[in-house]
Amino acid sequence: MKAAGVTNEEEYRALACRGGGETVVERRPLRRPGAGEVLVSLRACGLCGTDVFKLEAGDQPPGQGLGHEGVAMVDECGAGVGSFSPGDRVVVAHHVPCGECAYCLGGSETMCEGFRENRLEPGGFSEKILIAAEAVSSAMRIIPDTLSDDSAVFLEPAACVLRGIRRSGIGPGAAAVILGGGSMGLLHLLVLKAAIAGIRVGIVELLKDRRELALALGAEFACGSGEAPDAVDTLTSGRGADAVFDTAGGPGALDTCLDLGRRGSTVVLFAHAGAGEQPGYEREGLFREERRLIGSYSGGVKEQAAAWELMLSGALDASGLVSDRVNLDGFEEALELVRGRKALKVLIEPGRED
Ligand SMILES: [Zn+2]
Ligand SMILES: [Zn+2]
Repeated sequence: MKAAGVTNEEEYRALACRGGGETVVERRPLRRPGAGEVLVSLRACGLCGTDVFKLEAGDQPPGQGLGHEGVAMVDECGAGVGSFSPGDRVVVAHHVPCGECAYCLGGSETMCEGFRENRLEPGGFSEKILIAAEAVSSAMRIIPDTLSDDSAVFLEPAACVLRGIRRSGIGPGAAAVILGGGSMGLLHLLVLKAAIAGIRVGIVELLKDRRELALALGAEFACGSGEAPDAVDTLTSGRGADAVFDTAGGPGALDTCLDLGRRGSTVVLFAHAGAGEQPGYEREGLFREERRLIGSYSGGVKEQAAAWELMLSGALDASGLVSDRVNLDGFEEALELVRGRKALKVLIEPGRED
């Protein structure tokens, strides 16, 4: 039976989960946009650590799409869509909080039940995407000519990073340390520098080329974890960092974060951890030294708006973090690059020739 609105004359190609960690590129019938919806053609979508994590967890149902950092062209607008027209180049986020529930009103927008819904059908790694009405009205933006695809694709991840930075409570002149110099670690560096005046940032990273890039992007220091305590002491006159952002995850990272923070500092957990992983910190120190340990998950509408302003003003340009590009058929290759820590941000560009 055909679903309403489906015509088989037109098809598009999209990446879909197959169950477990497998993916497949499949053809799907195109559905025309309903009321409030917008149909777009993808130009580029960033591969995010969360996409990789979902595939590693292997718990996505078959047919499920992935990808949520997309830049696209508007093809067609459903009834009642007034703010967009065919031919507009847009960036769109996949999660939208309701704005009315206890979570939203209490500042936990990213914990809202509505926020969990994926508003991109079937997902970002697809030639065509139907944007749900809620995302069209509050999370889709026209990209000015001054902003490249490579810059705009970072709106969603930059909003996530900005949420963690805001939750850390640090302000002008603070000293921050980032664990991990991958695309999210380096994006933390760029967003911190764009959002907070006089911020001083150090990066702890194993790989030499990533450390060099961190220094080129304005880090005060970039070193391995063995040298980090001395580097932080030098940066903060022996006091310790005001905030430490863990973008690396994994066993031992939390201990390192707590070691590098000052008394009264905040550690922001930004990375996924393995299932069942238990931290081993000493509770007495946490209590006596008034340390805060907070999680930060995704970014809400407010952070998206603030990150967009930073991009429009020119304060934030993360396009230099794009290291590789593949088309849909190159998705497995992209995964290998990320898993092998050989890439920073990989863009999936369906229109790209091999
Ligand atoms: Zn993401
Ligand atoms: Zn809500």
